[in-house]
Amino acid sequence: MTAPKTSDALPDEPKLNPGDEAEPGSPGSGENICSECQGSGKIGAVECPICGGTGIVITGIGGG
Ligand SMILES: [Zn+2]
Repeated sequence: MTAPKTSDALPDEPKLNPGDEAEPGSPGSGENICSECQGSGKIGAVECPICGGTGIVITGIGGG
């Protein structure tokens, strides 16, 4: 018999935005200006869904 889940607490992991291709700090990745909002973090009056309003996306750089 397995114990029921008593906790929905998630581990403290980096939150990735839809535009992120890699985890922050991971080798071969770097921050880039979001191409959707041009780094403003917003598209018009709406928070950019690609970068999550940060204006920055994590993309893989270098060959890999
Ligand atoms: Zn954006």
